[in-house]
Amino acid sequence: MVEDFEKNQIIVDKNVVTYHSLKYFIVELNDKLRPDLFIKYDVILIDIKEEELVSYVVKQIRTHLNPRIYLMPIFLLSTTDFHEVVINELTDGALPSINHLDSIETKVLDIQANIERINHPKVLSFEAQMINRTLNLMYTRNKKVLNPLPYFHSGIGYYYPELSINFNHRDENGALKILDMAEQEGLFQSEFYERVYVCNSCNGGFLNYREVCPKCNSSDSVSQDLVHHFPCAYVGPIEDFQNTIDDQLDCPKCNKTLRHIGVDYDKPSVLYTCNSCHHRFQDYYTKAKCTTCSTENDVEHLVPFSIKRYIMTKKGENVAINGYINIEKQLETLSGTVTIDIFKVLLQYEIQRLHNIGYSSNIGYVHLEHAAVVAGILGLEKQKSLMNDLVQMLRSNLNPSDFVSFYNSSTILFSFVNTEFKDAQGIISEMKELSERLLTKSFEKVRIEIRTDVTALNVSSKVETAINHMVFPLAKM
Ligand SMILES: [Zn+2]
Ligand SMILES: [Zn+2]
Ligand SMILES: [Zn+2]
Repeated sequence: MVEDFEKNQIIVDKNVVTYHSLKYFIVELNDKLRPDLFIKYDVILIDIKEEELVSYVVKQIRTHLNPRIYLMPIFLLSTTDFHEVVINELTDGALPSINHLDSIETKVLDIQANIERINHPKVLSFEAQMINRTLNLMYTRNKKVLNPLPYFHSGIGYYYPELSINFNHRDENGALKILDMAEQEGLFQSEFYERVYVCNSCNGGFLNYREVCPKCNSSDSVSQDLVHHFPCAYVGPIEDFQNTIDDQLDCPKCNKTLRHIGVDYDKPSVLYTCNSCHHRFQDYYTKAKCTTCSTENDVEHLVPFSIKRYIMTKKGENVAINGYINIEKQLETLSGTVTIDIFKVLLQYEIQRLHNIGYSSNIGYVHLEHAAVVAGILGLEKQKSLMNDLVQMLRSNLNPSDFVSFYNSSTILFSFVNTEFKDAQGIISEMKELSERLLTKSFEKVRIEIRTDVTALNVSSKVETAINHMVFPLAKM
């Protein structure tokens, strides 16, 4: 009985609350916020009384590099509904006080169980990281649909919380490009929702549309009706017909008094007069002035983006668990490399050749550490060209008959056919040195570590096992 009582007791020690098997941390404004330390807890509680704190803390957590932190359950301590849509999407719920921990416990355990199922492969490209983070967050919350939220604080007017949170206001449209990519990869299906137009200079979505003078671009103009007098065919602005005494209209050409609109005259159009240059015009230009960078955009030159709803596919769900490494696809096309499937076929032949007496063959790899850091600095295109340089350089150390493939975005596989193991070792250590030199040249501030290894093949080698066994130590890092 006593034990049961203790188990059901809420233990509060400063900001840490322990209840059942879970540790909750209550964030306070005066704390020096150290999201890295959140890893010690199971759940983060944020008191919404300190409103400015809420967005800040949520952003710190959801954009953290460590998956154990960015996926953490976050709940708001609140007795009323919280109306910030984005925060509501990025948090897991609310409870009035720590006396109600029972109400969220199942959800917390559910999220934790989902997090346990997820693998986090090392990915090289920024785009792949973003796709993984988004899918991970959705999957752990059993969320299948990514809805665009109309959002005042968004640079493009719409926000996909799980993804957009990673972007600065100014390059938020990058989120759309990533979603596009994920859709092309079959991770999402989409439904059209809305079309937005952004500034062609800064991609800002806050545009001021207005009618401007075709001569001087000023939006300061006045309009008046254009009058057409049927009997004499005179056409002129209404002021030509007006007098200072009464409302009567008299034709300046034939001096007759105008009687009824539609009978002896009509108003076919409107005439604008520019207050800035006094130019008179019937057709104005429509321009969109960007409120961010002040560029005056011609409406036909605005950049259109489709805003869509994204529905996670089965493949997307699978990728949410196993991780998405898109870059292989792009690296496959690098000259001098073969796809991993072809690599395996060629390796199979190589193993057959080992039946010849005196024939020896090996495989090896070059692996980039901290690939994610590289990706963050470089972006996809530059990263591709760096990997290209690396492959071309390493290729020159091999025999023409050797084959090269990407095992994943940060690991390159090589064959050393008809080569003694010792010689293969020599080549790979030379490769390591060359790679380090190239990367040091490319990154002055970041130190990229290179790992290499080489394995001799024998007649009983199985292709899959040989490769997996060789690269296995990498998976543990
Ligand atoms: Zn007239
Ligand atoms: Zn003007
Ligand atoms: Zn702009």
